[in-house]
Amino acid sequence: MCGIVGAVSERDVQGILLEGLRRLEYRGYDSAGMAVIDGGRVTQRAREVGKVASLAEAIETNPLSGHLGIAHTRWATHGEPSQVNAHPHMSGDRLAIVHNGIIENYQELREELKAAGFEFTSQTDTEVVAHLIEQYYRKHSNLYDAVKAAIARLRGAYALAVVHADEPDHLVVCREGSPLVIGVGIGENFIASDQLALLPVTDRFMFLEEGDIADIRRDAVSIHDREGMPVERKIIRFEHGSDSAEKGEYRHFMLKEIYEQPAVIKATMEGRITDTRVLEQALGTDAANLLQDVNHVQIIACGTSYHAGMVARYWIEELAGVPCSVEVASEFRYRKHVIQRDTLFLCIS
Ligand code: GLU
Repeated sequence: MCGIVGAVSERDVQGILLEGLRRLEYRGYDSAGMAVIDGGRVTQRAREVGKVASLAEAIETNPLSGHLGIAHTRWATHGEPSQVNAHPHMSGDRLAIVHNGIIENYQELREELKAAGFEFTSQTDTEVVAHLIEQYYRKHSNLYDAVKAAIARLRGAYALAVVHADEPDHLVVCREGSPLVIGVGIGENFIASDQLALLPVTDRFMFLEEGDIADIRRDAVSIHDREGMPVERKIIRFEHGSDSAEKGEYRHFMLKEIYEQPAVIKATMEGRITDTRVLEQALGTDAANLLQDVNHVQIIACGTSYHAGMVARYWIEELAGVPCSVEVASEFRYRKHVIQRDTLFLCIS
């Protein structure tokens, strides 16, 4: 699950999107792409396998120009890394979409949409969402309503950003299980899967909550929650040094992360421990009571986090005397499991 950037502005958005993608490169990815809608109401698209630099080269030769756009770095989950599977995905030549996450019921939706006459050009779960929104767009003639109707049919995790050439003044975004943040500008607005992507253009952010759907225009943002009620999400100013998305003096991001560990651990612990103990409140207002009742700890994680979990297991059993198990998240998600009463789940992402 990789990166999303989007912008609606008075200025040309290609440069903003490209810089946003560069700042998301610290996350692994296999391909990158961008779709831009111009005043003439055409959806232009570029997609390349490999690095953002390849996409940059492609759009230097054939620039995309316009005031509304979305861009993506992909970490393939459905379909090999290839140009046809790279995002944005389109339905027809007007609707474009980028997606982070996994649509679990994509196979049945794909069959349904094929039967309705939609042609698929990729193996991704994402293309299903593009056609599904287009199908509802034909009915509602309104992008926001079409996205709302489509996501009601999705099972899985997603952050989505959608644009349509017939509505060249706004983008529609939503999230369920994957992060999405709105960057608030002056007379322009942005979206991204990680605020770091937008630091060159704004330091004010609204974090969408699970189930939120937002309509984003140059001068207005309107957000509705899962129940369809209008909601306000607080604007939070970004305060840390804005260098976290840059490699700085280091040769690559992994090296930078290794050297940053002492500072990161210190910053994470700050306000959460005293000299002798952990402050339970740091884990939530009722944590002290809840922790009293825990008689088993279940750690769920992937990759490096899983290995960290295996170390934590030794510590938890040794220091707290509470039995602890560790499992790979993808296994846990898809198997039938038995959960003991009063199990504390520790999910590391
Ligand atoms: N599941 C989608 C795909 O395979 C999105 C992957 C991602 O989050 O980058 O294209």
